[in-house]
Amino acid sequence: MPVAETTISWVQEQFTSSIVPTLVEYIKIPNKSPMFEPAWRETGHMDKAVELLAGWARKQLPQGATLEVVRLEHEGKPRTPLIYIDIPATGGKPGDTVMLYGHLDKQPEMTGWREGFGPWTPVIEGDKLYGRGGADDGYAIFASLTAINALRRDNIPHARCVILIEACEESGSYDLPAYIDHLSPRIGDLSLVVCLDSGCANYDQLWSTTSLRGLVIGNLEVSLLTEGVHSGDGTGVIAASERVIRQLLDRIDDSHTGVVKLPELATQIPRQRILQAERTAQVLGDEVWNKFPLQDGVEPVTRDNVELILNRTWRPGMAITGADGWPSIGSAGNVLRPTTTLKLSIRIPPRVDPEKAQAAVKAMLEKDPPYGAKVRFEGGTASAGWDAPEIAPWLEQALDAASQRHFGKPAMYMGEGGSIPFMYMLGEKFPKAQFCITGVLGPGSNAHGPNEFLHLPTAKKLTLCVADVLAAHAQQP
Ligand SMILES: [Zn+2]
Repeated sequence: MPVAETTISWVQEQFTSSIVPTLVEYIKIPNKSPMFEPAWRETGHMDKAVELLAGWARKQLPQGATLEVVRLEHEGKPRTPLIYIDIPATGGKPGDTVMLYGHLDKQPEMTGWREGFGPWTPVIEGDKLYGRGGADDGYAIFASLTAINALRRDNIPHARCVILIEACEESGSYDLPAYIDHLSPRIGDLSLVVCLDSGCANYDQLWSTTSLRGLVIGNLEVSLLTEGVHSGDGTGVIAASERVIRQLLDRIDDSHTGVVKLPELATQIPRQRILQAERTAQVLGDEVWNKFPLQDGVEPVTRDNVELILNRTWRPGMAITGADGWPSIGSAGNVLRPTTTLKLSIRIPPRVDPEKAQAAVKAMLEKDPPYGAKVRFEGGTASAGWDAPEIAPWLEQALDAASQRHFGKPAMYMGEGGSIPFMYMLGEKFPKAQFCITGVLGPGSNAHGPNEFLHLPTAKKLTLCVADVLAAHAQQP
């Protein structure tokens, strides 16, 4: 039984009167993930964000539910906190538990925000709430709890639910395994995972994520000199560190095509995922690539949209996300610089072993350094991608019915190019669980970049879809 029409209006009203105003306050808090704010304990921003979201949630708790901010320590220092909400069942099979997952840590500022906009400056414009962390992934706790409250309102049975909101996702969720171990006896056995931290390829229907890529991150440092020298003196005699780094990067990917060369970073793409990519390409057409904020006249790497989808979801890809050893242009003299350091971010497909991939990248970069340069690839992390288990018929039907009801179009399935490290952990720990991974990160929403926005109509519809899926979960035979 899906939620009543009056409850649809109630959910919309919750967004207007309570959720959006709280998200506005949330966006103002610069609670960057620990990787980007190592002093997060001292600044107090993370605690402030936890207080705000937990404070809101406490006022919304369904009858019988409990909320705890769990704080574990590691080597005498606090880990990033975690909000844990436990909501008793009103139906479903005994012992069945649903986990709803989201995170409250944020990506760093990034440049390029529009005039009057900014990461910590919430702006509502039309259907969109701009600011860092609204869509990725602040809305998740609101959507999760509101979906359950919608069911309670209509006396529609749901299984026991636990909501987990972590604060370390954008840093690779390194604190999360300890929390899962700690909470494991309380969490119990999961039959369904709902994750609201993923993407949608348009705002017209419900999208489920069928795979995620993993990630290898590390800093590549190349040095040939112990200090900088006059470039008129040094060039032509000593190789520039940036030229050596270009050579090394060419070992990883082909600079003409972007194709990653290392076999350790590739996988066989399953037939069913190719079929899904073909179907998605039919629905999206050129939106696969023209959703990006392209300069005039810029072309994608190929015009074959199926290949673009597969590149984005099932093939590795490298980006350089930061650099050290370079002065800014205004203060750049004619110097042969001693050292160049680049931060490499390499997405890896599902089913690729992240540790082996990382070791392969390191070995390839560090072997036989040109001119005997000092080369190091260090400071890295590696996390696994994820490939969804086969979907159960009840879930497939529930997703489609929810999409038809709240969006007026069928549900769609697609892999995502980003990473949610926790999904792999859950898949390993609960091999029988079904996954409903979805989200609001659609065209233009630009999580991690400038001008991130939360598409409010989609957030509302998604909340209602989650409610209907939880209802169907409790009614499955
Ligand atoms: Zn996220």
